[in-house]
Amino acid sequence: MTKIIDGRAIAERIREDIQRETADFASKHGHPPGLGVVLAGGDPASAQYVRMKRRACEAAGIHSVAHVFSADCTHDDVLNAVHALNDDPQIHGILVQLPLFDQIDEEAILEAVRLDKDVDGFHPVNIGTLGMKGREPLFTPATPTGCMVLLQEIGAEISGANAVVVGRSNIVGLPVALMLLKANATVTVAHSRTKDLPAVLQNADIVIAAAGIPNYIQGEWLKAGATVIDVGTNRIDDPDSERGYRFVGDVDLESARGIVGAITRVPGGVGPMTITMLLQNTIKAAWRIAAQETEE
Ligand code: NDP
Repeated sequence: MTKIIDGRAIAERIREDIQRETADFASKHGHPPGLGVVLAGGDPASAQYVRMKRRACEAAGIHSVAHVFSADCTHDDVLNAVHALNDDPQIHGILVQLPLFDQIDEEAILEAVRLDKDVDGFHPVNIGTLGMKGREPLFTPATPTGCMVLLQEIGAEISGANAVVVGRSNIVGLPVALMLLKANATVTVAHSRTKDLPAVLQNADIVIAAAGIPNYIQGEWLKAGATVIDVGTNRIDDPDSERGYRFVGDVDLESARGIVGAITRVPGGVGPMTITMLLQNTIKAAWRIAAQETEE
């Protein structure tokens, strides 16, 4: 029997804890944790993600502010917004929604985010320490953290497991591979130049699919009993649906059902976890900054 991992239910439960913690922080410090968002890119999906993140903040009792830029903004405009958020005592976490407009130097902007407010975990120092033995980043990126929490929630044995990550992007594949390695899995990272992906997957106890190709990974490529976290969120045409499209993962769920031990569905798997992990990082940042201020 294949277990369908219910990311929505797990995320909902964690969000209840977040609401309680937010209230606790606000009662102790007189103001809620705060998230600052910078939107300086033309991708319509980014605007939608920012709206969803701000709505989630509101529901959790987290204060949020947004700096939204039009296509004629300059690199310095965006940099100044990051500096303002760095200096704002009501803001504990900063999120720069990627991708940015072409005229903006992404690396310089991410580096400008105050390390202890880097709730997206994309500051080079946080990514660097994630990759180092014996060092811990202040924050880990939201989607990879969501994958790890899902694995923990279902009691997957990570230590010693053979894990294959399909995809090596900066935002999903690479950080999740580093997190699995830190959790003592034996990790293989597959990408577009990988030869014979089915053979690579045959021995994988854990699969993280993040290639962005609809229904690509077939059930017969997977090991019996494997645990599969499908990050892929791919829009495909669907004349039968009201909107004319729907979202599917990278794994062909129908062929994987009955072979793998557990799998997330798309939507309702990793997606709801991503924003939840961002909220959790914001609260973590707020407690840490408040504790440092008390010490000073
Ligand atoms: P990218 O396009 O940045 O990266 C895709 C990766 O997949 C690349 O490393 C690429 O390899 C690899 N790849 C491409 N083709 C193949 C192939 N045939 N076999 C193996 N690997 C391949 O995507 P993202 O990492 O940003 O996103 C991946 C998916 O996850 C997308 O569907 C996205 O929508 C989804 N996503 C979901 C989130 C959520 O919250 N649920 C959050 C973020 C992303 P190479 O490096 O060689 O090009």
